[in-house]
Amino acid sequence: MTDQPVAMVIHGGAGPLRGGDYTREVAHMRALIEAGRDRLVAGGAALDVVVETIAALEASGLYVAGRGASPSSDGRYELDASLMDGPSRRAGAVAALVGYASPITAARAVMEHTHHVMLAGRGAADFAHRQGLKTIEDPSAWFTHAGRGAGRAPSELATGTVGCLALDRSGALAAGTSTGGVFGKLAGRVGDSPIPGAGVWADDTVAVSCTGAGEMFIRAAVAAQLAHRMRFGGEALGAAADAALAEVAVLGGEGGLIALTTTGEIVMPFNSAGMKRAALYPDGRMVSMVF
Ligand code: ASP
Repeated sequence: MTDQPVAMVIHGGAGPLRGGDYTREVAHMRALIEAGRDRLVAGGAALDVVVETIAALEASGLYVAGRGASPSSDGRYELDASLMDGPSRRAGAVAALVGYASPITAARAVMEHTHHVMLAGRGAADFAHRQGLKTIEDPSAWFTHAGRGAGRAPSELATGTVGCLALDRSGALAAGTSTGGVFGKLAGRVGDSPIPGAGVWADDTVAVSCTGAGEMFIRAAVAAQLAHRMRFGGEALGAAADAALAEVAVLGGEGGLIALTTTGEIVMPFNSAGMKRAALYPDGRMVSMVF
């Protein structure tokens, strides 16, 4: 353990509605940052803190992930999540997972108990069953936004993927992302969130989690692009993040990202109206905000 300062970043999605009241989300993210700080200061591993924090974001129902997800065109709730460990670059993900309460927990199980990176659809659900993960008995009771997306244009609705990055006392980074996807999505649609290199990334330099128009984030390979601009192009974090996000805009997409380096540098850029976000800086300063 090198005992370096710890740091952590959360996002709750880049789709808040202008003028909306996000008091609860801001307080919730702040509480999670404080809990994460205590875990990290006590020597907790970045990977554990990321999974615990995202599981809490999923369980809250305040974001479009986990309990707060919205249904696909066939009325089913298909959830995506991913996890990546910086030092080893191991990764685990689930896509279009139906019937399980915590997609990030399933992503961790894929990483730790299979030789694969991603399981999708029925195979992901069968695996989650074999792992004994918590099931959703009654979707209409479980999901807090059940029916919210029906008959409304995606542009009228807030979206809110969640993500978390952490830097622990050993200098290890981890990143995770979890989402219900976008409103009005076709059954089977998978966005950037579960795809390492698109909506999530962690290596020995930087950790990234994205939110926004997933199709454009895939086409711009945003998370890997940011990391590779730093690794191969020698770019500073802020410049690399801005350039990757600028490509999303060129492709016609809106969104944002959070990124954290092993030196504890943090950026949280977005080109949308706002982005729910919170951070613990290495000097102990904490922020939680939306606009
Ligand atoms: N990026 C997510 C997706 O396309 C949506 C979001 O971030 O709100 O599935």
